[in-house]
Amino acid sequence: MNEIMADSLFTKIINRQIPADIVYEDDDVLAFNDISPQAPVHILIVPKKQVETINDFQDDDAELIGKIVLAAKRIAKEKGLSDNGYRLIFNTNADAGQTVFHVHCHLIGGRMLNWPPG
Ligand code: AMP
Repeated sequence: MNEIMADSLFTKIINRQIPADIVYEDDDVLAFNDISPQAPVHILIVPKKQVETINDFQDDDAELIGKIVLAAKRIAKEKGLSDNGYRLIFNTNADAGQTVFHVHCHLIGGRMLNWPPG
């Protein structure tokens, strides 16, 4: 993390400066319900380390990236989505519609999801 980087919205959630409906936490990752859910289950899994986009991950973030996906898998199981299915999405920059520049994995499920996405 760059020392002069301002705290992101999600860092403020991680630091309990902004409230959120937290569903999972460990040393490296926090997960909370999306404030504007697009499906019956819509959870954001974020690294506690503030990284702006997937483009900013480095080789030594490989373990952290794995922990994000493993947290998503665990939460999906807890929510009963494992068998029917779910989607993990990392929007990156403008064409993908990224609005919060702190890496986050959208875990979406609980209904049929269209493909290709819009
Ligand atoms: P993205 O467009 O991929 O950057 O996704 C950002 C997501 O953050 C959107 O789905 C928003 O609904 C969600 N979001 C924004 N503010 C909050 C908040 N305070 N608590 C929970 N989710 C939020």
